[in-house]
Formats: sequence, C-alpha cells, structure tokens
Amino acid sequence: MKTFYTAGHTAHVPQEEFEAGRMTPAVEVPARVETVRRRIAERKLGPIVEPTDYGLAPALRVHNSEFVAFLQTAHARWAQDHPGVDAIPSVFAPQITGQRRREVMARDSTSARLGQYCFDTGTPITQGSWSAAAAAVNIALSAAQAVRLGDAAAFALARPPGHHASTTQFGGYCYLNNIAIAAQFLTDTGARCAIIDVDYHHGNGTQEIFYARDDVLFVSLHADPAFAYPVYWGFADEIGRARGEGFNLNLPLPIATNWQGYREALAAASARIRSFSPDILLVSLGLDTFALDPICRFQLQSEDYLRLGATLAELRKPTVFVFEGGYNLEHLAENTVNVLEGFAAA
Ligand SMILES: [Zn+2]
Repeated sequence: MKTFYTAGHTAHVPQEEFEAGRMTPAVEVPARVETVRRRIAERKLGPIVEPTDYGLAPALRVHNSEFVAFLQTAHARWAQDHPGVDAIPSVFAPQITGQRRREVMARDSTSARLGQYCFDTGTPITQGSWSAAAAAVNIALSAAQAVRLGDAAAFALARPPGHHASTTQFGGYCYLNNIAIAAQFLTDTGARCAIIDVDYHHGNGTQEIFYARDDVLFVSLHADPAFAYPVYWGFADEIGRARGEGFNLNLPLPIATNWQGYREALAAASARIRSFSPDILLVSLGLDTFALDPICRFQLQSEDYLRLGATLAELRKPTVFVFEGGYNLEHLAENTVNVLEGFAAA
C-alpha cells in the first residue's frame, strides 16, 4: 500500500487553542504525522510517495471560493494587527444576515471574517496553515488518483485533518475537507463513492457538503453529540435532505464505547455501504477512539484497530484511507498502522 506524504505539513504549527474557558496547548501537532510516517517505514508497509500538485480547482468543487480566498490570505491580514499571534475568532454573529452582514464583511475586517468563516475557537490560523492545508488536499487527491488507477488501497497521511470543514466554514482543527475533495474528484471521473468516517468526532463538514446529494454516501460512527464535539451535528435523525435523503447515516455511540459496541455499529455501517454498492470506499481514519486518547472518551484498544482494518477490507472495495484525528502520540502510530495492516492482511 502506498502512503502519500509531504513534509509540507510541518509549516502548520498551532501553539494554543481556546478550550473550556482557557488557552490550552494545541494537540493537532506535526509530531502526529511524523510518528506515523516512521512506523510505516519501520513496518515496511509500502512506499512513501510525495503528492502531485492538483492546484486549487478540486478544492473549489466543494468549498465556496470566497471562503477559500479568505483562508489563503487570512494570516497575512491578521498579522498586520496581531504580530506573533495565531488568528482565532472572538466574535460570532450568525443572526446577522442579509444587507448588514454584507456591509460588515465589505469593511474587510479580519475579525468579522474569522467569525463568518469559523465555527469554533480551537482552530488557529498560523503562518503555515494555508500551505499545509493545500498540501493535505494534494495528498488526499494523490491517494484517490492511485486507487482510481488501480491500486487496491492507498493511505493519505495528511494534516491538518479535514472532516469538520464545510462548504463555507473551518473548525475542529480542519481548514479544507481533504476527504470530501477527494470524493468529489473521484465522482467527477464517474466513480460512485461512499465515505465512512470512523473518527471519534462526527464529520460535520463532510456531512454538510454531501447532505442534499444521492451520488455520494456518507456514513459516520462517532461519539454522540449530546456529550461530544461538534455538539450541533451528528444526531441519528440527520438522514440527508431532498435527493440526499437516506444517503447520510449517523451512528452516534455512548461514552466508553468499546469494541463490542463499536463492532455492532460497524456492521450497520457496512450493511448500508454494501446496499449503496460504491465503486470506491473512502475512510476518514481518525484514531481518537483509542482508550488513552487525551481528548476523547471511547475505549478501543490497539488490537481493535487490526479488527477495524479487517472489517473494512471485508467490503472488498478499492479503498482510500485519509488521516483525520488521534492525539495519543505514544500509541497513534501503532494504532494507525494496525488499521492498514489489518486491512492488507484480510
Ligand atoms: Zn476527532
């Protein structure tokens, strides 16, 4: 299995996020990808390949162009008034709409734009965020292309992650939605795509992007938003709308879910994917379901990730794995590679 990777992600080094009333050290850090890359090399999983540059066009197939333009220049604008500090929004005014919002946005205030385009205070824009986010998209696209051209599977070892980023908003450590852009890219070539999101958190961005569509299936197993981020999204009654009704399946799970509970949800997810009959499966591969993850509350063990990989392999589809969350730096590499080895061995 090829792994797509570039050192470009190391440009994105968030220092702190605002969480639960205080600044806390960032957990979405370069060491996450570097530890996984080292283990892939040690385990001889396959070649580690530099991505191809696809330009911005694929990202603009799923994201609003003004939103993308904002991300490109946000840090430079912010730094003029706030040198040495990462950009985090402090004002959100979703109730201001129409003409007044247009007037405020037209003043070109970075703080108004941050509040418009971001939905939380945990996702700082740093000097290198844009270049790293753009590189992550190229990694996902390169993995998708490898599978499109015949590889049985490929791994996009990308950060920042993507599954919380929607058409017009970033948040949850995500700026551009890597997996959604890859799925759209494959769809544009005529492939029927299903996305399964096994990150601990609901992939609200991916859901939003495909919510009214029946050509891309989105299935997500995640912590119930009743107690977990992203709070507003991920409920079981979010089933899609219009043509997309029935093409969005949320499987929220309780606190302390272990493999037994997870396996049952995974069986339901697999059944829906089988009935959709995709040409290509894309996996939002978050490892923050791990029992020792510092910010999450599930109970999966390292050996369970072998089982997860084997279960995904049972779908017998060409598969694109896209790295998402997972914050226990001691076990992240083992758990990630366990999924890929469990998949390859099945
Ligand atoms: Zn997560």
